[in-house]
Amino acid sequence: MMLDYHSLLLALGFSSACLMVTLFGTWFSRRTDFFLLTLVIALLFTVSGIGVYSTYTVNATLVSAGLAYGLLMTGFSVIYAASVQFRKGGRPWNRSLSVATISIGMGLPLISGGLDGLGFIVMNILTAGLLMGTAYQYWLARAEAPVPLGGMVILYTVSGISFVLCAAVLIQEGNLTLGHAPDNWAETLNLGVCIAGMTGIGALSLALHQWRLAAHHRNEAMTDSLTGLLNRRALFDGHGHRMLGVSTAVVVFDIDRFKVINDEHGHAAGDLVLKLFASDLSADLKAQTTAARLGGEEFALILDEVMPGRAERIANQVRRRFGARDIEIGGHVLRCTVSAGVAVGLPGGQPFEAVLNLADQALYEAKRGGRNRVELAAHLRSIGTSENRTSA
Ligand code: GH3
Ligand code: MG
Ligand code: MG
Repeated sequence: MMLDYHSLLLALGFSSACLMVTLFGTWFSRRTDFFLLTLVIALLFTVSGIGVYSTYTVNATLVSAGLAYGLLMTGFSVIYAASVQFRKGGRPWNRSLSVATISIGMGLPLISGGLDGLGFIVMNILTAGLLMGTAYQYWLARAEAPVPLGGMVILYTVSGISFVLCAAVLIQEGNLTLGHAPDNWAETLNLGVCIAGMTGIGALSLALHQWRLAAHHRNEAMTDSLTGLLNRRALFDGHGHRMLGVSTAVVVFDIDRFKVINDEHGHAAGDLVLKLFASDLSADLKAQTTAARLGGEEFALILDEVMPGRAERIANQVRRRFGARDIEIGGHVLRCTVSAGVAVGLPGGQPFEAVLNLADQALYEAKRGGRNRVELAAHLRSIGTSENRTSA
């Protein structure tokens, strides 16, 4: 055979070490995505374990067997903890420690007690379990980035299966004591699979990191940083191309005499008022409703699947909630009001921007009519509930 077992083992150790350096460099350059650092630490244990194990294949001692076992099981435990961390966040240390303790506790006594054959069976089964558990974690997280995560699931599963085969061959041979490293076709296959799997998993971990960064930037570009609502760009990305029917309403809000608040109490006070309005706007939003800040002190709601009159009632709810709020600024308590315009699409569909313009015209009417009111677009006035005219 051109590549003997020992050379394959060194190749695996070497490629793991290279991967460790790459992952560390990637993590270090941004210090986000802590799970990459966890993987680096996992690889540190795994590479050391492979190193010790390779001395064991040449000169089998109990100490090197036990040490290799401990290091490798710790490495695989941390790999598993990294996958949980990827999915759920949080710190991986407690989980790493408890999983490693359990798996070391299950096999180390066997190895140090001379039952190394049984110890290697336990080790292969536990490793297979941890790798498949890792695959399962990435499977649960697959919605975030289906392509790289799907690849991770496959590679971890295949690696796990190769450890199952190693265990199966050892069980079939039935030697409780070996006195040397197992050497059979399954072990060689296992090393080949691990070398390929390791390289693939490394590349996919980097791809995942890039995927997350891109998603983070996309999200930032779509969010208004002051209020946390969608910004104008996000609103047009999501709705700009739509044709709105009669069951979709657009409500445009504009805070009344906002310039006065800025002038009398300062820009920071103005910002506070904007944040408070945003929270009133997004309080008890339904799933079919989009809230966005159009810019300045102008906001919009897009309501899908609403009956006529419902959008106006919701607009009035927001208006009343905000108008009733005591806003404390520098020892003063002040009240603010907001005006709104409501429009809906047409039976045959109408472009989003046209409906937004109609809502804007209605808003202008509300301002002209004295502010602190909700006005309907001209095409809606016949069906409106006209709450303003009765209650304002
Ligand atoms: P109206 O009742 O007619 O709506 O009067 P208004 O004073 O609210 O209207 P106008 O559009 O003249 O004033 C809007 C002000 O909003 C002007 C601008 O300085 C201020 N503004 C825009 N963006 C921000 C912001 O992010 N923070 C603060 N504090 N002020 C802002
Ligand atoms: Mg304005
Ligand atoms: Mg205004």
